Amino acid sequence: MSNSIRPVTRRMRAAAAAKQWTLQYRPLLANYDKDRRAQIIGVGAKLADLGPSPDPDAVDAIIGNTSWTSISCSVCGCDSLEHAIEMGTDGEDGDVRICEACLAEGLAKLGKAVAA
Ligand SMILES: [Zn+2]
Repeated sequence: MSNSIRPVTRRMRAAAAAKQWTLQYRPLLANYDKDRRAQIIGVGAKLADLGPSPDPDAVDAIIGNTSWTSISCSVCGCDSLEHAIEMGTDGEDGDVRICEACLAEGLAKLGKAVAA
């Protein structure tokens, strides 16, 4: 993904979870024992069974934590956002996510600075 500014929602993250789970864990399966491999494959299958538009809470329940659907603001640190703007160069976790309140504050400050 190129340099971009894009919306991100919990639903978007949930919709990507099954594919990303497989992409992340498939190359690692050989490193795990039989039980862990079965668990990882089972989680992937359950995520896939949720279909293309899963409820984020259902994804969290299958994975056992909220890390695959949660969105936090890189500025104020709020970690329970339903949506945010994501900015960065590659669509990876290193990209910056900013909530509406912080975006609005930044735009207001920019507006005052430019008008001054
Ligand atoms: Zn914020």
